[in-house]
Amino acid sequence: MTVKLNLLQAGHCTQYENLVIRGGAFRKMIFPALFGLIYHSQYGFIMFDTGYSERFFQETDSFPNRVYAKLTPVWISPDQSALAQLQQIGVHSSDIRLIIISHFHPDHIGGLRDFPSAQFVYKKSAYYRLKKKNKISALAAGFLPGLLPEDFEARSKDIDTYPTITIKKKYYPFDLAYDLFGDGSLLILELPGHSLGQLGLLVSTSDQKQYFFISDSCWLKQSYQTFTPPNRVMRLVTDRWGDYRATLNKIYLLHHRCPELRIIPSHHNMLSC
Ligand SMILES: [Zn+2]
Repeated sequence: MTVKLNLLQAGHCTQYENLVIRGGAFRKMIFPALFGLIYHSQYGFIMFDTGYSERFFQETDSFPNRVYAKLTPVWISPDQSALAQLQQIGVHSSDIRLIIISHFHPDHIGGLRDFPSAQFVYKKSAYYRLKKKNKISALAAGFLPGLLPEDFEARSKDIDTYPTITIKKKYYPFDLAYDLFGDGSLLILELPGHSLGQLGLLVSTSDQKQYFFISDSCWLKQSYQTFTPPNRVMRLVTDRWGDYRATLNKIYLLHHRCPELRIIPSHHNMLSC
């Protein structure tokens, strides 16, 4: 079995450092929208999220969604989309068989429409709660439903239908995961707090490295290295603050128990991953 991982970026946004980490400076920072491209010799190409696409601008060009673009300015050009970048390395849209959706914010689902052959794996209970929302409350939850393909539900698989396993003690305090292919190579973990049903991914590659995609459990590595949460104002855009802190604390403990594990927040500068 061969498992390889490429860490890529599709667009970025800017935000104030003092919002995303308590004690941060009052200065704007660039936050890349990362996604993972995984090759598994038996199952082909799998993605973890997609980053932004230019569709973000269409979806936010009128009220009320325009408010989102004002609060979180986004930059992406056509050649920076996940689709364009995969084509540049010889991976075609139809090669992507599965996309793991960590959660439904635009920087994670922006490119879904570009992969018509892919199935989608995510927490269905979270999606159905978002789907029921009206325009304003969906916006408040950071959900732009126009980013989803028309046949999204028909191509969806609920992560809750996968078997859960007890994972190796070295990943304590995490203990349970969904084993995507039954071979332990891709393990999906629940990371509640930031948004409804947020999922993370543990990847074990053939070169004996382990990567942990923690999505938006925090935006900066310093947050999990020192257990420093965001500014309290961010409670307003956080699904459950208590769960957020508990998840961040687990990642903090895991990092100090297992420093060789490569922990990847979705918005961290990947040059330092
Ligand atoms: Zn998010």
